[in-house]
Amino acid sequence: MGQHCAGMAKRARARRADAVGAIMPSAMNDQRFESVLAELRAVVGPAGWIDDPAAMAPYVEEQRGRYRGAAVAVIAPASTDEVSRVLAHCNAARLGVVPQGGNTGLCGGAVAGADQVILSLRRMNRIRALDARNRTLTAEAGCILAELQRAAAEAGRLFPLSLAAEGSCQIGGNLATNAGGTNALRYGVARDLALGLEVVLADGTVWNGLSTLKKDNTGYDLRDLFVGSEGTLGVITAATLRLFPQPGDVQTALLAVGDIDDALAVLDRLQQASDGRVNACELMSDRSVAFATRHVAGCRAPFATLPPWMLLVEVSGGRTVDELRPLFEATLAEALEAGELLDAALAESQAQAQAFWRLRESIPEAQKHEGGSIKHDVSVPVSAVPEFLRRAGAAVESALPGARVCPFGHLGDGNIHFNVSQPQGADRETFLGEWERCNRIVHDIVAELGGSFSAEHGIGRLKRGELLRYKPAVAVEAMRRIKQALDPNGILNPGALL
Ligand code: FAD
Ligand code: ZN
Repeated sequence: MGQHCAGMAKRARARRADAVGAIMPSAMNDQRFESVLAELRAVVGPAGWIDDPAAMAPYVEEQRGRYRGAAVAVIAPASTDEVSRVLAHCNAARLGVVPQGGNTGLCGGAVAGADQVILSLRRMNRIRALDARNRTLTAEAGCILAELQRAAAEAGRLFPLSLAAEGSCQIGGNLATNAGGTNALRYGVARDLALGLEVVLADGTVWNGLSTLKKDNTGYDLRDLFVGSEGTLGVITAATLRLFPQPGDVQTALLAVGDIDDALAVLDRLQQASDGRVNACELMSDRSVAFATRHVAGCRAPFATLPPWMLLVEVSGGRTVDELRPLFEATLAEALEAGELLDAALAESQAQAQAFWRLRESIPEAQKHEGGSIKHDVSVPVSAVPEFLRRAGAAVESALPGARVCPFGHLGDGNIHFNVSQPQGADRETFLGEWERCNRIVHDIVAELGGSFSAEHGIGRLKRGELLRYKPAVAVEAMRRIKQALDPNGILNPGALL
């Protein structure tokens, strides 16, 4: 996994030279170090201890093969108490700890160095409580997202957080990265779905903030501090999550549009007509659809000719199929009439709706078959998306002749995955050598439009430079002070975020 994009890895190595393994270089030979490892092993027992290199591989390697991680050991506590004792030992010994969920993050946030340990939450996977009437679910951090969705559904409720990695990412990781996903438009991001948290601080102290309250104004919101902190302020061990009514009906359509202004007009129309019940409004450029249909089996665009843009829209609600469908059809007919749509394909079955989603979700995979790709995970105000796409597209095409701009993403949230594929037949390494120059062009435009250079995936080890460049210095300094206050020895995820 670490091999298939050597150029990227080379650059990444240069960038991260100070990032991984920086906390205690001589620790490996230290007597004290050996004794802390023995203590840690005694806390979790053999079931929670991995130090065999082959068995550690899935924890050490990351999704995109950009970082070559390492670790002294992977430690998997089975309870909050064990997490607490592990952190107390690590803090006393100044041993760096990298918390890890499903290891699906895309910014190198869960990558450890050779003198650090990985703290895997995978064994903490119990649902502690589900209160259907209160619409809350309390789960341990290691619960797989898809399993929480299932548990909620079995209780007749909806847990709406949804992303393509849901079969392997964990709720602790979702909260630590404040994940977005495809339903954020209607239900909010991970932060909006958490009522309370249980967190173990760097020194092993346990904060039980598992509130099930919607209203609680009693000072600083610690929950919001830990959400999105990427494992640098504490280890999330459990969370109380908000559940929603399960919709009686879900309607899905693929829409063909000529330009982004029209796409926004259609979204507005659907929001108004459905009283805000649009779950998702996903944008796909013609090129991204072409890549998916070319490279991923079973992907097909339902239109005779490929339109410049396609939208995947999903609305849900009502008790019966008869309530929502006519409204959906009528609204899309109005949009066609108004010239905002070129064409529309409504899913006639659940299988067809799944096929529409498959098209959207296959794009990242399909893009890998087109060679190197320079990525941007940006957001701008929704109303500024058309200007962003026009300006960034033109600027990148002029700076990197032949580069194939391939944007897609969560239009309803103003969050575009502005990926740029290498020119056809170009040398992959040479193209990826333009990574930073391309980032600069795109992120400068994003900043001018009041947007964010990291909408969904976080900072990790990948975007620390961008954080310093684009985040106001006052904010970065405040973040440093918070880190210093909560983790004075700097043992938690050293080198990530700050
Ligand atoms: P990991 O990757 O293990 O860790 C991520 C970060 O969180 C690290 O910094 C780690 O130290 C920290 N962390 C993990 N668990 C804890 C804990 N219990 N306490 C404290 N810190 C912790 N992201 C989106 O936002 N939206 C998407 O639509 C989306 N789609 C994706 C699709 C695919 C195919 C893939 C591979 C990834 C996608 N992602 C998306 C990115 C990723 O899935 C999310 O960031 C996810 O929330 C990470 O969860 P995880 O359990 O894998 O965390
Ligand atoms: Zn996304």
